[in-house]
Amino acid sequence: MRIVIMGPPASGKGSQKPFLTEELNIPQISTGEMFRNEIKKGTSLGKKIEKGMSEGKLVTDELTNEIVKERLKEEDVSKGFILDGYPRTLPQAFYLDQLLKEKQLKLDYVFNLTADEDLLIKRIIGRRTCPQCGRIYNIYFLKPKVANKCDYCGATLVKRKDDTKEVIIERLKAYHEKTEPIINYYQEKAILVNIDGSKAPYDSFLEIKSAIEKSK
Ligand code: ADP
Ligand code: ZN
Repeated sequence: MRIVIMGPPASGKGSQKPFLTEELNIPQISTGEMFRNEIKKGTSLGKKIEKGMSEGKLVTDELTNEIVKERLKEEDVSKGFILDGYPRTLPQAFYLDQLLKEKQLKLDYVFNLTADEDLLIKRIIGRRTCPQCGRIYNIYFLKPKVANKCDYCGATLVKRKDDTKEVIIERLKAYHEKTEPIINYYQEKAILVNIDGSKAPYDSFLEIKSAIEKSK
């Protein structure tokens, strides 16, 4: 099964990862996570994208398409994948179609997570991430059992550099300008399913699961 999971920043894409990967047994690939890793490792790609990303700007389509193309060559995607945060622009959506067409594959679903902007902003400000397993917490809505520690690995949680009030405005702007047009594109292909992203992550997951089961 090949899935795209999209939605504005903090709509809950990354929070679906533990549920979806467990349920479907395929990897969830986040371009944002891959880019953050490149920055952390200090690679030449990391150096190119660091400034723009910290300002909430999108990475260029060229660099993004390239990293996805390489990732989709790996063995673990043979049974399918969940793309998280990609495509994020129409040119990326066209590129993905072409890439899949070459492999005689197509997307099964595009899940579009929705939530009001004031909720997104609160989530972004309170978001903390586990640097070890990637699980996502929130100091207001989804507190870890022990303050600032991951429930699963005990690692100290970190705040993303781009999760500040100033940068959020920029990221939401990029979303409205560049990403929202994709919704129509996938709607026309009749693979778009809207999911309520304002719920707790597990409840949004149940919506996704029932959409998949319904069309089996
Ligand atoms: P969020 O959805 O909360 O903004 P992500 O981890 O998906 O978080 O993305 C973080 C940042 O990574 C984005 O603001 C952007 O700079 C970069 N990024 C991630 N995916 C893409 C993409 N498909 N195209 C361009 N830039 C991207
Ligand atoms: Zn963890």
